[in-house]
Amino acid sequence: MVFIVLIAALLLVPADDLSNNNVWGQNGHRIVGDIATDYLTTDARKEIDRVLGHESMAIASTWMDEIKSDPAYDHTHDWHWVTIPDGMTYKETEKNPNGDLINSIRTFIEELKSGSLSAEEEKKKLRMLIHLVGDIHQPLHVGNGKDRGGNDTKVEWFYDDSNLHRVWDSEIIDDTQLSYTEFSAAINHPSDQQIESWQNTDVIDWANEAMELRDQVYNLPEDREIGYKYQYENRDLLDRQLLKGGVRLAGVLNEIYGK
Ligand SMILES: [Zn+2]
Repeated sequence: MVFIVLIAALLLVPADDLSNNNVWGQNGHRIVGDIATDYLTTDARKEIDRVLGHESMAIASTWMDEIKSDPAYDHTHDWHWVTIPDGMTYKETEKNPNGDLINSIRTFIEELKSGSLSAEEEKKKLRMLIHLVGDIHQPLHVGNGKDRGGNDTKVEWFYDDSNLHRVWDSEIIDDTQLSYTEFSAAINHPSDQQIESWQNTDVIDWANEAMELRDQVYNLPEDREIGYKYQYENRDLLDRQLLKGGVRLAGVLNEIYGK
């Protein structure tokens, strides 16, 4: 019986789709949320506790992926990513009529600042903002317009079929076999100067950084078989992006809720 259920579940796995796959894995988001918790002002922390109740930022961070199974939230699918081709600025791009990662982050910051949302809406928007600040620090969320954020760049990850997006989403992180709290404890050591300079940036800077990382992220061997070497060459970058995401998320939330 279990076997039949497993087969059924496998058959239901959807084909690669940008809106379904273009996310950090759960642990990536939780690491960002967990790190951010450490850099909140006392006022911001109180306000976030008021909005989220007993839900931690790490737990709140994955809600926006969980709602993908609910058709009521179909309109949010394109908010997880943005396309900016090489050599273009966001301003110059043709905008997605369904919204995108950059304008969603901007909108939620403004709406949360306004203080005019109902308690239910405020909770939803805060959960989505926590999620999306994580997303924009996964370099392949800012797609080049050629391969659906790396989903169409097929690779072999330690001899298993995968794609570049999934490698950055979850494979490198999950292969460490660390829990999200163990992972964040290992990388959460920014200097005061890093905190200040990282927080002194906006969403366009974050997107531009992702674009600048493309050369490194797409530096693949011809046979597209990757494993230890790619992991070794990119682990520092991945750790840095998760740490920046957490520190910057705290900066944004302090601005919204810090009084
Ligand atoms: Zn996402």
